[in-house]
Amino acid sequence: MPVEKRNPIAVKEAIKRVVAQEFRTETQQVPLNDSLGYILSEDIVATYEIPRFNKSPYDGFALRSEDTKGASGDNRIEFEVIDHIGAGSVSDKTVGPNQAVRIMTGAEIPAGADAVVMLEQTREGEHSFTIRKTFEHNENISLKGEETEVGDVVLKEGQRINAGAIAVLATFGYTEVPVRRLPSAAIIATGSELLDVGDELEPGKIRNSNGPMIQGLLNQFGLDCEVYKIQEDDFDSSLAVVKEALASHDMVITTGGVSVGDFDYLPAIYKEIGAEVLFNKVQMRPGSVTTVAVANNQYLFGLSGNPSACYTGFELFVKPAVLNMMGAIERFPQVVKATLMEDFKKANPFTRFIRAKATLNGLQTTVVPSGFNKSGAVVAIAHSNAMIMLPSGTRGFEKGYTVDVILTETDTFEEELAL
Ligand code: AMP
Ligand code: MG
Repeated sequence: MPVEKRNPIAVKEAIKRVVAQEFRTETQQVPLNDSLGYILSEDIVATYEIPRFNKSPYDGFALRSEDTKGASGDNRIEFEVIDHIGAGSVSDKTVGPNQAVRIMTGAEIPAGADAVVMLEQTREGEHSFTIRKTFEHNENISLKGEETEVGDVVLKEGQRINAGAIAVLATFGYTEVPVRRLPSAAIIATGSELLDVGDELEPGKIRNSNGPMIQGLLNQFGLDCEVYKIQEDDFDSSLAVVKEALASHDMVITTGGVSVGDFDYLPAIYKEIGAEVLFNKVQMRPGSVTTVAVANNQYLFGLSGNPSACYTGFELFVKPAVLNMMGAIERFPQVVKATLMEDFKKANPFTRFIRAKATLNGLQTTVVPSGFNKSGAVVAIAHSNAMIMLPSGTRGFEKGYTVDVILTETDTFEEELAL
């Protein structure tokens, strides 16, 4: 049989085809405390102002700014303290000329007052205090609505819920949050050479590291998955298990068997189930044979068996697909510029992805390949937080060049750096 001819497409085009799919998971309500990482399925609109009332940002005294006119070091002005309130309390007094209410951070400004003097700015007597500076109208007051007005869209449909969004939802009383369901994923490692993690090694065999790695990547992303039994390179049994996985999951992620080798059956499986192949060759290394197909509003990811290629395929295609299904606005990997700290001489006709360690130090981001970096490399993945993305071309890259980098993990560092 002649080797199938494949048409390689650019990485960006490949990601675009993945996120151009219009199927979405259903909307549902999840408890606020479980909502981290979900995508909002509705705009969240402010039902009241933040702050909700004029309040004091300091511990101090609320007074009338007009009464501070003329205050100076030589002319201290005295105020009588008529009430004392903490956060959560409201004074029933109205502040009159040269009167003040002792007020704590977060408490509502009493009627009549329009400025707050910090405790540190006063010299206190028993039921009075003096000040030596003038205050302006609204000085040291957190004004009602200064952050948010009624009707403002405070969170947008399609926004990923982070801890800050949880704070906003809590502020507006959402015990349940409208989101799209998390897609469910199946993982199927294929390859007759594969052993389970707990198996003894045998000649010619290796342990399945991709399956657990993908599970970790999904878990990190907040997704559960079902891990299927390792599949031998056999068309019939692999077809059966892919079908079974499609019956109960939104996406099926396979690794291995996607190339043009004698025992690579995934292409034939896509054909058999009538899936639409979005692409089966990408202008990238590693992972050029990475395949993404869709069938019945489900994604099928044929990731390469090579661990680095498998990881790259997940970052570039599975992540955007998951976000797309959940209705996220932000679906593309973020790319930053960094200074390459080591020569990388090998030129490549395809875009080259290199597992790397990026260091963000103030204005300068530097990046170094994280060790042995062939497509089969596994250790380098563990020491990386980024992928260098070198454009195709005939030249290599030298230390000092500015390169594009995709950050794959937020990170902490050994040293305090620019702190
Ligand atoms: P394949 O994509 O099936 O052509 O496999 C490419 C390379 O990745 C081969 O060297 C395989 O032995 C290796 N490989 C395939 N699947 C896995 C896996 N699940 N874990 C680790 N290595 C794998
Ligand atoms: Mg194989």
